[in-house]
Amino acid sequence: MTRPAHLVLARKYRPLKFAEVVEQTTAVRALQNAALEDRIGSAYLFFGPRGVGKTTIARILARRVNCTNPQQGEPCNECESCRSIIDGRSLDVIEIDAASNRRIEDVRELRENVKFQPMNSKRKVYIIDEVHMLTTESFNALLKTLEEPPEHAAFVLATTELNKVPETILSRCQVFTFRKVPLHRVQEYLAEICRNENIEAENDALFWIARKGDGSVRDSLSFLEQAISFCGNKVTAEKVRELAGVYPLELFLQLTGLLLDPATPAQELATPVMEIFDQGGDLNRFIWDYLDHLRILRYIRSGVEDSDFLGIPGSQIQNIKSTALEFDPSRISLIFDEIHGLLTTAFFLKLRNSYESRILIEMELLKIHDRLKKPSVSGLLSKIQKLSVSLAGQDARRSEDLMADLQEDPPGPSQSGPGSKPESTGQARKESSSAAGKPENPAQTGTGGLSGSAGNDSIPIEDELQKQFLGTMVDPDSVPNEPEE
Ligand SMILES: [Zn+2]
Repeated sequence: MTRPAHLVLARKYRPLKFAEVVEQTTAVRALQNAALEDRIGSAYLFFGPRGVGKTTIARILARRVNCTNPQQGEPCNECESCRSIIDGRSLDVIEIDAASNRRIEDVRELRENVKFQPMNSKRKVYIIDEVHMLTTESFNALLKTLEEPPEHAAFVLATTELNKVPETILSRCQVFTFRKVPLHRVQEYLAEICRNENIEAENDALFWIARKGDGSVRDSLSFLEQAISFCGNKVTAEKVRELAGVYPLELFLQLTGLLLDPATPAQELATPVMEIFDQGGDLNRFIWDYLDHLRILRYIRSGVEDSDFLGIPGSQIQNIKSTALEFDPSRISLIFDEIHGLLTTAFFLKLRNSYESRILIEMELLKIHDRLKKPSVSGLLSKIQKLSVSLAGQDARRSEDLMADLQEDPPGPSQSGPGSKPESTGQARKESSSAAGKPENPAQTGTGGLSGSAGNDSIPIEDELQKQFLGTMVDPDSVPNEPEE
């Protein structure tokens, strides 16, 4: 089936009834109840992000209030009053965009007009969009009307910035908060519309469209429309990603893999960056998206698989799960910190072109790669742990030897070690033997200290080491190799 020649989805599917609104159940229920009980207030304030249904609900409310044949909580959308409001020719429902009518004169005019009875309706409904844009003077004038509204008038103020609306205005209104629509809800809604329109769309494609819409149904629909123009009747994830400028997952995974592999040749590190550069892609954007990717990896590594929360389709989470689980979280965090620092630098430098960005990014990747070659604290700790286990074995053997030596020695006044001379006092011998066991002999320091602590349950060696090493990077050349086992 071919698409209608002119398709404006956002308009075509604009809800005409409360029940058709996606989410926003609190506001919808409260307003429907008020309508049913015939106690619609004189002033409402709808607050929330753009494109989530504030104006739509205000219009449905205006129709329900004036409908001559209401269907329970809904307007009939067929009577003359409903039709005239839908067609935008009603003289009693007045929509004002405060962004372009913010002057005191505009509000004065409103104050004059509000006094007159409605022409053909029960109530005059004023819908003032972007109300936070009004000047202080205008707000004061509006406040006077809100303080003593004529019985035949109702106001619906809508805003995206509640903090810019004076407290005096707020105190005169019933305030409803509208929320961003969850990604999966938008995705479901888009799927429904595609079925209606006979558009074949992949689930992941709809996910990316919903993500691009950022919780706004209206923006998501506009983007769906673009996607349909771009893809035709078969909307694929790959094409939508391209249209939305989302870089492929494989590119980010590749970059992380290259960074974490100590054997990666210097030039190869730049492969993913070069790919974007050659395609004329936005490198700064790529780096931002890479930060987001690292965040996702880090969460998946910790067992998070919530697609809405992570911002990628469920199928992709499954794709990277096995890879993510192999990553050392501290290394992912290290890459994140470095890349974040890079973005800060790039921001201050106000780079002129992508070649300049490329230079910064390439050098940063080399630096990160070098840092990652050094053992991480967790890697080091596991090495030390292995070492201490193997030394504990040696230590046990050594104590057996010691016992054997003691039994051969003639009985003396003290329990001295095998090297001590009988003429020294017991106390002195103890001190000298303990001193000899620790700092004076560097070759034995590590082994003696480790085995001693490992044998002593009261000092958990790994905890202590973690404290000591936390946040430090260690030069691999100064770390002794593990002993042969
Ligand atoms: Zn009606």
